[in-house]
Amino acid sequence: MRPFRFCPACASELDPPDNESGARCPSCGRVWYRNAAPSAGAAITAGRRALVTVRGREPKKGRIDLPGGFLRPDEDPISGLRREVAEELGVEIDVSNGDFVQGAPHTYGEEGDWVLALGFKARLTGGEPRPADDVAGIEWVAEEELDDLDWAWPHDLELVRKALSDGA
Ligand SMILES: [Zn+2]
Repeated sequence: MRPFRFCPACASELDPPDNESGARCPSCGRVWYRNAAPSAGAAITAGRRALVTVRGREPKKGRIDLPGGFLRPDEDPISGLRREVAEELGVEIDVSNGDFVQGAPHTYGEEGDWVLALGFKARLTGGEPRPADDVAGIEWVAEEELDDLDWAWPHDLELVRKALSDGA
């Protein structure tokens, strides 16, 4: 991740980041941290299978992904996950904080920005998933097929593996 060079508040040039990755503004005194952006993703299971998506956009277009996305600043992970799944697939899911499986830091995009990916297991509450523009397709896959898929991010493979072995 590229650190801020100029203060987002007053546009002064910042001092170099300290060891905690915060950069102090010599003009207004604010400190800017390189925090990870939180995202939420779902391993939607039905019996012994899980739903995976094919990415329709860069980065990692064409590779295997899970439904989900970045949380809005005022959004809790469950609400954000439900919103993203509704936007991407047009369906509602059953998911709660008790379905939390893992939190995985990873980098995203050409700048290598850090993301904290919160992974949940979930179930469809009805309807047929219909991919939106940013999703090229969906597949229902079994545990023995997981290693043969071209995953965009290894933590998504781990999330699905854990969700399926859990008998979710
Ligand atoms: Zn400033």
